[in-house]
Amino acid sequence: MTCRGHNCSNTKLIGAHIIPRGFANLIRADRNSELLKVADDGVSKAFPQLGETDGNILCADCDGLLGKNDGYAVDVCRKFKADDRANLFEDKSVEAERFSKFILSLLWRASISKRGRYCQVVTFGPYERVAREIIFGARPISEMRAFKLIVSRLRSRRHDVDRIIIEPVRFKFEKLNVYSFLLAGFRVLAVLDGRELGPEFDALIMNRTNVFRGTYLEFETLPEFKWLLSAFAANEKPLKKPVLADR
Ligand SMILES: [Zn+2]
Repeated sequence: MTCRGHNCSNTKLIGAHIIPRGFANLIRADRNSELLKVADDGVSKAFPQLGETDGNILCADCDGLLGKNDGYAVDVCRKFKADDRANLFEDKSVEAERFSKFILSLLWRASISKRGRYCQVVTFGPYERVAREIIFGARPISEMRAFKLIVSRLRSRRHDVDRIIIEPVRFKFEKLNVYSFLLAGFRVLAVLDGRELGPEFDALIMNRTNVFRGTYLEFETLPEFKWLLSAFAANEKPLKKPVLADR
C-alpha cells in the first residue's frame, strides 16, 4: 500500500481518521463523556470512541498536512457564537477557503477509504485527483467548479445540536449530486456535480464567495432529526449526549 497523498510514495502508513478525531473530542466536551453511536439498528457505545481510522490511505506526513486544516475547522466550530434571532450568519474573521478545503478533504478521505458505510457512499470518481491537488495545496480551490459548499447552522431550543455528528449521506439537491452531514452544530451540503445550482444560491456557496456565511436551520424541521428520534426509539427525551451517527 502506498500513501494516497499528493506526489507521495511513502509505504509506511498510519491509522488516519476520516472525520478528524478533534471533532469527536469537541462533541464529547470532556474525556469522561461517553460518545454514543447511532445507527438504524439502535444506539450503542461508539467504538472506537474517537471515530474510525483507515490504515491504508495516508502516511504520517500527509495526514499531518491535512491535520492543519482539520484543527482549524475544529476551532471554527468550537468558537462559533450563534445568534438566536438572525436568519443568516456571517463571520469575516473565519478563513472560508480554509474551511472549504477541510470539508473537501474530509469527503476526499471518505472517497478513498473503504472503511465504514459512509465511505462506500462517498465516491469522487473523476474528481478524486483534482480534489487531492487542492487539499494538498497544489492548486486553488477555484479550479474545482463541480464542488459547491453550502453550510447552515443548526438551532434548537431543546436539543444539544453542537454535540451531534452524522456521517455523510448522498442524495439529490436541486437535481444535483450532494453529500450531506451534520458536524458539531453545522449542517454541510457539499455538491459534487459538474452542473450549476441556480443563481439564488450564489451568495451561499462558501468556496466561491470566500465568506463564512450561511442560513440558520431549525434542527427539528430536518429529516436528520426525525431519523435520530426514531433511532432513539421515539422517546421524547431531549438529545443531550454526544452522538456519532451513521444514518
Ligand atoms: Zn504521504
